[in-house]
Amino acid sequence: MLLPTVGCTFPQATYQEDWFYTVHKQDSRINEPRTRLLMNHTYRAPEPFKIKMVEPIRLLPREERERILAEAGLNVFNVPAEAVFIDLLTDSGTGAMSEGQWSSMMQGDESYAGSPSFLRLKQAVEDVTGFPYVLPTHQGRAAENVLHSALIKAGDIIPGNSHFDTTKGHIEFRHAHAIDCTVNECFDPTLDAPFKGNVDLAKLEKVVDEHGVEKIPFVLITITNNSGGGQPVSLGNIKEVHAFCEARGLKLFIDAARFAENAWFIKKREPGQENRTIREIVAETFSYADGATMSAKKDAIVNMGGLLMLRDEATYQACSTFNILFEGYLTYGGLSGRDMEALATGLYEGTEEDYLTARIGQVKMLGDALHDAGIPTLRPPGGHAIYLDAKRFLPDMDQELFPAQALTCELYLEGGVRGVEIGTVLADRDPDTGKNRPPKLELVRLTIPRRVYTDNHLMYVYDTILKLWERRDQVRGLKFTYEPPLLRHFSARYEWL
Ligand SMILES: *Cc1c(COP(=O)(O)O)cnc(C)c1O
Repeated sequence: MLLPTVGCTFPQATYQEDWFYTVHKQDSRINEPRTRLLMNHTYRAPEPFKIKMVEPIRLLPREERERILAEAGLNVFNVPAEAVFIDLLTDSGTGAMSEGQWSSMMQGDESYAGSPSFLRLKQAVEDVTGFPYVLPTHQGRAAENVLHSALIKAGDIIPGNSHFDTTKGHIEFRHAHAIDCTVNECFDPTLDAPFKGNVDLAKLEKVVDEHGVEKIPFVLITITNNSGGGQPVSLGNIKEVHAFCEARGLKLFIDAARFAENAWFIKKREPGQENRTIREIVAETFSYADGATMSAKKDAIVNMGGLLMLRDEATYQACSTFNILFEGYLTYGGLSGRDMEALATGLYEGTEEDYLTARIGQVKMLGDALHDAGIPTLRPPGGHAIYLDAKRFLPDMDQELFPAQALTCELYLEGGVRGVEIGTVLADRDPDTGKNRPPKLELVRLTIPRRVYTDNHLMYVYDTILKLWERRDQVRGLKFTYEPPLLRHFSARYEWL
């Protein structure tokens, strides 16, 4: 990134702008702050790190990309990563670890039982989240598997705000049902509201009244709301859901993959929270829950790892059996000692405000640039990703022709950029009727890995999308040539219509 040399200002402004600064031209006639990102004028506050190690990437010629995508059955999950130029498939496990994390790995102790690395992880969990009990797992879905094995039985109902796909998969695998109680605001992609990830208390109450508390092993809040666009949930909302659950005798769990990004949004957007530290907000968030599952591959910035965190001993004991059965002994679970070390360090680093400001600011930079160019995206930008709105990108295409999947393919063909479909394919078929269940939002997610790409990489992504937008009337729909029964978006194959 070019370093600005003249007239830098760091404006004290509202949450919308305060992590950008503007380089003023010396000519006083054009000495106005540019509030939106233009490459030559407005910069984000500098990242609180410098780069120590690099990995080369390469853009293959267009004909190569065409051949590779065809061989992949038009599913970017089947494309080799080396054939991808900018990989925005996921922010899961794709972050760059710090020198602190790499060096803590060197003190990893691989004892089967009672490893000091486990004790350091347990301490970090307690420091950051306040939970007294922790079971390490190999990733987030493994924590879900352990928790659900202990608590969910067939016919149960798990209400929540837009359950993540693996969460829903684990619930439905047990013949239980995930019921979405997200606020309606979440489903209007054009609406710019601060907390579109919130739980709708009226919807939650209706579900509880209809099914009865005995059918509901727990209520689940996902922070940030990943399936809803990385949108945050307010502290006020979490507190209200907690009060509701307490009054009804229901347990409350948090799917905490992006707990730190959620806390950053609370600090920036929720009145009364602006002077608190991220750690204080994180601690209060978790104080309302009976436990949490966490994919540490997100906000704890490790390449592999997960946590199941619990408040009461009885649930911990019930889960322990399944942890030993599925993951490993209690003091390592699905992880090696060195992994637990990196994870412990990552919990502290991931909750540093400067880091979060740089990270979320970069996502916003891409989102605002696209929005200003007239590209339909989900607004406002989420914490970890920008979502192209395929329904407005391709308004004439039926959802049964998988417009978001078609755009995902075209993005790879256009510029070697890999995004991912969050639409009709991901939503799977209804387990009862066997029919597609086209979701309200049909999206292409462009997920930004942590500390990996520069702003210049993201400007290339912006340019690629603009080129695709200009030829959007040429984009065709898709049909399956192979469709697996569950979690189909990972391994389905398609052909162009
Ligand atoms: C990633 C994720 C999971 C699953 O975690 P894995 O580590 O991928 O198994 C669960 N919930 C949310 C919200 C996630 O983002």
